[in-house]
Amino acid sequence: MKAARIIKTKEPLEIKDVNIPNPKGDQVLVKVESAGVCHSDLHLWDGGYAGPQGVFMKVEDRGVKFPLTPGHEVAGTIDEMGESVTGFSKGDKVLVYPWIGEGTCPACRVGEENICDGPRSLGIYQDGGYSEMVLVPSYKYLVKLHGLDLNSSASLACSGLTAYTAVKKTESHPGQMVVVIGAGGLGLMAVQLAKATTNARIAIVDIDEKKLAEAKRLGADEIINSAAGDPVKSVKEVTDGLGAETVIDFVNNGKTAPNSLNMLRKRGRLVMVGLFGGSLELNLPLVPLRAFTLTGAYTGKFADLVELVALARMNKIQSLVSRKFTLDQANTALEELKAGKIIGRSVINP
Ligand code: NAD
Repeated sequence: MKAARIIKTKEPLEIKDVNIPNPKGDQVLVKVESAGVCHSDLHLWDGGYAGPQGVFMKVEDRGVKFPLTPGHEVAGTIDEMGESVTGFSKGDKVLVYPWIGEGTCPACRVGEENICDGPRSLGIYQDGGYSEMVLVPSYKYLVKLHGLDLNSSASLACSGLTAYTAVKKTESHPGQMVVVIGAGGLGLMAVQLAKATTNARIAIVDIDEKKLAEAKRLGADEIINSAAGDPVKSVKEVTDGLGAETVIDFVNNGKTAPNSLNMLRKRGRLVMVGLFGGSLELNLPLVPLRAFTLTGAYTGKFADLVELVALARMNKIQSLVSRKFTLDQANTALEELKAGKIIGRSVINP
């Protein structure tokens, strides 16, 4: 089978012929119909993240090994199954939960494999979906799609799930203001999910007018272009000078993070999601004086993916797929995302 693989970071992915895995026990071989292209694939391709004071945090120091087939947003058809698989049949259309843990750490034991101490996520620590087939370690990581479109569903596994977790973590109440920083694949999901689940007012902040327009179409109430003015001032203007109860920062770099903190109301809650990197200087007296909460969110748990698929079946989530690429075009797909040319999400159809 063909797979687009990162052989060496920062160098073009290579289309390789690799052996088709033979599923055993609980394992399932899924024929990839659609693989979402996430900004995290760019960080992986780059080999890491910008840390504080110009330090580069290498993914290889965090357990990633190359060569690797990326792709953690996978929807497809069951092709083969190990002898112990139950409840699924060959030909079933499924979404793959990629945030696989080692199963015994405290997080795994409470169903939060996404923040496992020894993660084995597909497309990051094991081969993923930029491939004709993907081997899923157990049928328990599959969600049946029941007729949902495979291209629209693929991104639920990361951008949808991460946005859903972040929106839940804001603990927003009706009438409050939630500010979403970054109207990319994740931010546009968050706008829709905040709309569907919170009854909060939604402000979106980005530097790209086209992405802001898409956020407005999907239900954002306030549109703020941070390239055209101070986003803190704009948020204060629409919150009677007080600031927003909650902010989700899907960029989370040295530029956005200080603004995200400064646009929070007293007792506010900032959820940091983006991996653009850098650092944040904290004014320490302000932490108690303004009594805000700062938290991180990393993808989401399996149970939340099941809820998300149910929301999609209730037509609460519009498709964000704006471009489709073949496996041979994997490098173009990544380059276009890097250049900021993708509105919403693109997918690879192997
Ligand atoms: P994307 O490329 O689709 O979108 C990024 C958006 O941020 C774009 O709309 C861009 O215009 C906007 N942006 C860039 N700089 C900005 C700035 N200074 N101010 C305002 N907006 C700005 O990316 P994505 O796939 O949505 O991912 C976003 C980030 O989240 C990436 O760093 C990705 O790796 C990370 N991520 C984190 C998790 C997690 O679990 N924590 C999961 C998936 C992705």
